[in-house]
Amino acid sequence: MLRPADIKQSIDLVSIISESVQLKRSGRRLMGLCPFHSEKHPSFCVDPEKQLFYCHGCGAGGDVFNFVMKLHNYSFHEALTFLAEKAGIREIEDERLKFLKQLQTLFRKTLLLSQKAKIYLTKRKITPEKAEHFGMGLAPKNLLQILKEKNQLLQAQMSGFKNENFIRLLQGRLTLPFYDRCGNLVGFAARTLNNQVPKYINTEETEFFKKKNLLFGLNFLQHKEKVYIVEGYFDCISCLINGIPSVAAGSTSLTTHQAKLLKGFDRVVVAFDGDHAGKKATMRAFKILVAADIYPHAIFLPEGEDPDSLLRKGKKEQFLRLPEKDLFKLIINTIEKLPPQKAITKLNNLAGFLANIHSPLSKLLLQQIRKTFSIKIEKQTRKHLETEEQILQILLSSPELVENLEKRQLFEAMENSEIRKTLKYFAKHKTLPEGHTHMNLLARASIYPAQKNLIERAIRYLERKKVCREIVCPSEKS
Ligand SMILES: [Zn+2]
Repeated sequence: MLRPADIKQSIDLVSIISESVQLKRSGRRLMGLCPFHSEKHPSFCVDPEKQLFYCHGCGAGGDVFNFVMKLHNYSFHEALTFLAEKAGIREIEDERLKFLKQLQTLFRKTLLLSQKAKIYLTKRKITPEKAEHFGMGLAPKNLLQILKEKNQLLQAQMSGFKNENFIRLLQGRLTLPFYDRCGNLVGFAARTLNNQVPKYINTEETEFFKKKNLLFGLNFLQHKEKVYIVEGYFDCISCLINGIPSVAAGSTSLTTHQAKLLKGFDRVVVAFDGDHAGKKATMRAFKILVAADIYPHAIFLPEGEDPDSLLRKGKKEQFLRLPEKDLFKLIINTIEKLPPQKAITKLNNLAGFLANIHSPLSKLLLQQIRKTFSIKIEKQTRKHLETEEQILQILLSSPELVENLEKRQLFEAMENSEIRKTLKYFAKHKTLPEGHTHMNLLARASIYPAQKNLIERAIRYLERKKVCREIVCPSEKS
């Protein structure tokens, strides 16, 4: 398996950053225009010695893994693969990924032999060739037994098949594979063929498989022209079979991370189900797509239809002829029809949302609002950092101090368990794991260590907090 530490050693942060940012030397450090927010004067700083970066403008920071993850919107695993390739280190496959591939082969073979699955797929107008193309499979009815006999139960659990009950629930279900952007099979969705509840189950999330970071179907798209975002996996498969480029969010709640995967496409069209939930979700998708710097369009399906139902009825032409609505204009038109006071509140909310995004698209939309309504828009200030996050950042300036505070058990007083975990790790290892979420704070603390008075204030805060806690719940002392 690829080891992050090995890769970090054989890669230079400066050369990776220089591929996308023009850096100029300034003392011991290098400065450039931040690739993560738009700016005219450089506030993006790289420390070649420490191999860390930090931006004063937007607070982005960290090591080479954080940089690549943020820039390309990669998962940690994708960043690892990407950097390994740059470093010329060949990936030795992870055992768990190999295991998933083996299972996939088993599932596909099982599908070919099942009459029941065949009937089901025919009903859905999916030919055996197409089923094969999309990597569909069938979990054998005796999967648990097979895994036990092969002594692979533990391996299965580590790969997302959480326990025996889950495997039992999986047995006899139709499986759909999830791929990451490197083409690795990372997990499965499984649909019942017997009207079992729940209709769908997924293998559990692992470090490779984060469902909300993946878009089903993305790996099948060859061109980056238009793409439809649909709700369900079978909506997506039906679209693809009909030559309509689409991806499935897996539910109505599209995530920001999923949206960012579609950056690069010429046109993104939301095509959720023709029901109340679908309409509401389309409006939510507007914000998520805009936040990902994507101009959103949408089609609204006839009541009671979804892309799959429409296409299965042979109504491809009707689907393609549905008018593509400009979601921004649609929202503005709706606001215009409201009573004035309500309209202003709504507009301010929308403008506040846009003002907080800092992207070229959000600026453009804001300008349009100003032009259309010529009203003064209240600007919302960006949310301040959480106090505990500030304290974390201050403390990361001094490994010795953190070790000392850990001995005094002062971190128990902090509310945020993630921050507690980070501090405990830091106390022990004097650094954070590659690509860690709080690496931006460590980068800042390393490049610009906190001043003594700030450190003292942070310690006093923790001491006070601990005393408060002990008064509120004295039992914790024992
Ligand atoms: Zn920045």
